[in-house]
Amino acid sequence: MADKRDYYEILGVAKTATEAEIKSAYRKLAMKYHPDHNQGDASAAEKFKEISEAYEVLSNKEKRERYDRFGHDGVDFGPGGFNFGRDFSHAQDIDLQDIMGMFGSFFGGGFGFDPFGGGRRRARRADPDAPQPGEDTTVRIKIGFEEAIFGCTRDIDIKIPDVCGECGGTGAAKGSKPETCRRCGGRGSVVQENGFFRIQQPCPACQGRGKTISTPCRHCGGTGTATSTRHISLTIPPGVDTGTNLRVRGKGAAGLRGGPPGDLYVELVVAESSIFQRDGTDLGVEIPISPATAILGGSIDVPTPDGKAQLRIPAGVPDGQIFRMRGHGMPVLNSHSRGDLSVRIAIETPVKLSSAQKEAMRKFDEESCDENYPQSNAFAQKVSRFFARRDELRGK
Ligand SMILES: [Zn+2]
Ligand SMILES: [Zn+2]
Repeated sequence: MADKRDYYEILGVAKTATEAEIKSAYRKLAMKYHPDHNQGDASAAEKFKEISEAYEVLSNKEKRERYDRFGHDGVDFGPGGFNFGRDFSHAQDIDLQDIMGMFGSFFGGGFGFDPFGGGRRRARRADPDAPQPGEDTTVRIKIGFEEAIFGCTRDIDIKIPDVCGECGGTGAAKGSKPETCRRCGGRGSVVQENGFFRIQQPCPACQGRGKTISTPCRHCGGTGTATSTRHISLTIPPGVDTGTNLRVRGKGAAGLRGGPPGDLYVELVVAESSIFQRDGTDLGVEIPISPATAILGGSIDVPTPDGKAQLRIPAGVPDGQIFRMRGHGMPVLNSHSRGDLSVRIAIETPVKLSSAQKEAMRKFDEESCDENYPQSNAFAQKVSRFFARRDELRGK
């Protein structure tokens, strides 16, 4: 204790340094001497302990006061106090993300700065031997328009990554075992310097697993996973659309080392309908009608998801008129409500007329007058005004 260096000196700050100055000095030194950057360097580790201890005291108002008055004797590092020096494993909890977090706050980011206080610990680096949950898997299937309206069940076979049956997921050939990665010492990560920053990256030698395989399993090529076919009976509810994702719990890729399986997402692609146009939960249908129906009015059959419905057409309906039938559209997914159905009238010009029909049409036309055709009449008047103006301008 007697030979201990002065805490201010350790951090390289004046005795009058502000909290911010102390914090800033600590950040710089912690970055420099952090065990992650100085693996196997005992003097750096010592230095890091020293810096951390100094900061522990000087960043605490009460301890700093006691230290200022009584020196090292004023701050108690007996049992229950600061244990950093005795239990160095604690230091391993503070990985580079913490240091990067310091930089975050240094540059005004949102990270808190409290690596030792409050018992707050960041998530540990992933343990390469821990159970790993399986990934979610997405498959896309195409269904007919009718299946989307009425719902259905579909039996599908999907190929998904599963634990390799040959090596049990280790990736190592039978009779061999994965070995601790020499490059990263099993940590799974390495630190790379990039100018001012030091960045923790997954180890390139082991891809972050912390282990390497000298003799890969022949069945899975060392990946530990193998494709297996899974049979799934899928219930598709009424009202689905292209892009609808159905989640099937626990049917995704298998977990590794006993981890739970991921979920399966079935993304639907709904085929177009030959008669309906779809806009969300609304449907549209264009219905050809005869000129006689358009002229005289009448009732037409309209196809709807519920079957045929009758629609009354008023006499003299114009081409392209739209009738809205409420509640006759698509079922709304997971609901009892329904969209609307829009019916668009398309007057069809008859073809292949018999001579009797042609004669009847000629007769009909002879009987017609301007009042029968207000649109044609209005148009003819606009055209004659156009030409009258032209003649005026030409001075005729
Ligand atoms: Zn490695
Ligand atoms: Zn295998």
